[in-house]
Amino acid sequence: MSNPRSSSSSRPLLIRGCGIVTMDEAAGDLGSGDILIEDGKIVAVAPHIDAPDAKVIEASNMIAMPGFIDGHRHLWEGIARHALPTDNLMEYFHRVNHGFASAYTPDDVYLGTLLSALGALDAGITTVFDWAHIQTTPEHTSAAIAALRDAGLRTVFGYGPPGRQDRGHQWPHDLLRLQKEDFSSRDQLLTLALASSSPEHCPDEVAKAHFAMAKDADLIITVHAAMNGFGEKEQILRFGKEGLLGPHVQLVHCNTLTSEEWRVVADTNTSVCFTPSAEMQMGHGVPPIQPSIDVGIIPSIGIDVETSVPGDMWTQMRIVYALQRMQSHELRYSGAEAPACIDCNDLLRYATIGGAINARLQDQIGRIASGLQADLVLLRADMINVMPVNDLKSAVALNMDARNVDTVMVAGRIVKRGGTLFGHDLNALARRFYAARDRVYADANEPLKSPQHRLSVEAALQN
Ligand SMILES: [Zn+2]
Repeated sequence: MSNPRSSSSSRPLLIRGCGIVTMDEAAGDLGSGDILIEDGKIVAVAPHIDAPDAKVIEASNMIAMPGFIDGHRHLWEGIARHALPTDNLMEYFHRVNHGFASAYTPDDVYLGTLLSALGALDAGITTVFDWAHIQTTPEHTSAAIAALRDAGLRTVFGYGPPGRQDRGHQWPHDLLRLQKEDFSSRDQLLTLALASSSPEHCPDEVAKAHFAMAKDADLIITVHAAMNGFGEKEQILRFGKEGLLGPHVQLVHCNTLTSEEWRVVADTNTSVCFTPSAEMQMGHGVPPIQPSIDVGIIPSIGIDVETSVPGDMWTQMRIVYALQRMQSHELRYSGAEAPACIDCNDLLRYATIGGAINARLQDQIGRIASGLQADLVLLRADMINVMPVNDLKSAVALNMDARNVDTVMVAGRIVKRGGTLFGHDLNALARRFYAARDRVYADANEPLKSPQHRLSVEAALQN
């Protein structure tokens, strides 16, 4: 993607005069300040910076913050957006893991992944932990990686199971080849993880072999864990006691973990991501915000499945906010001892620093601070849905949404500016997204619900 406004060239970039939500505890927020970026990194954050050689973005009508970090998403499902608005988790397994997934060609993986990745960037998400269970052949894997590179999204690529078993998949042992060939450094946008089954859902020797493989390769292993009606209980506790958990393990969902399991998860610094919309909508269980807080974990928040939920972080954050505060108020009014209500700082922390911890990239992303990667967003604060700004974090968390995302940069490279994604022929891509969607729906025997609309879109895209 050619990008004339990239700041990853040698000339510095100065973002001037914006409100800054740094998410850095020591620095706090700046009501008005400047951010200097050089070679893809933040080199200074201060009320005023002199940088006469720098290109300048005047941003007095903006609030800058670190890009959101989505702790868990299946990016390949992009072309099946809202295909499953009412399905529960078991129905999802049947229609997605066995239906859509078996129909995907490498080209569909490319397009589904690219679409979801561009949607994430458009909504101010600069990093996604991708749980990519579509590795049907090595060509499917190459297509997913190519899409992530083309999108310019920072991604932890969770190399996952195949969409079909009968096409010669190489999962999981191809992990080591990928690590050597495509993910040789932590200083690149794409880092590698192993996406596998938790001990609750697969034979013990398989789970243990996969946990060991990831640990030996110094990679994260990410697993779905502890959902209603799924798998054998208390296996996470057993794995914890056997020394198999740790900061390299990401547990996703965690709705039905026992209090003893929460304790072992916290004691081992295992990371936790939950996905509020999907969990509440599809029946996984209550998003475990309170248990995370109770044991001192900073969780991350994930989008999970665009087949059923929207792809922006604001929707998820506001569910977490309402849920935790509702639970606390209810306890208080019932006469029980109630935990403190979370605030907007907590919420933004989960959506930035929590995600960075889950990605094991907390020394690189999640805050606006000198020395960190320039992964940040500029949010329009002068729009009708947010003015007047009385408090930076509350304005961002409670009033804004994706329409306020003016500028997005990843490692100093601007991918969205003036509210528009650039570097991609979106009209040409739209035609390919629709064609892939048609192919996948047909192969998976999914009826298209709005075929007439399909025809009018086709006509519009020709113009
Ligand atoms: Zn998932």
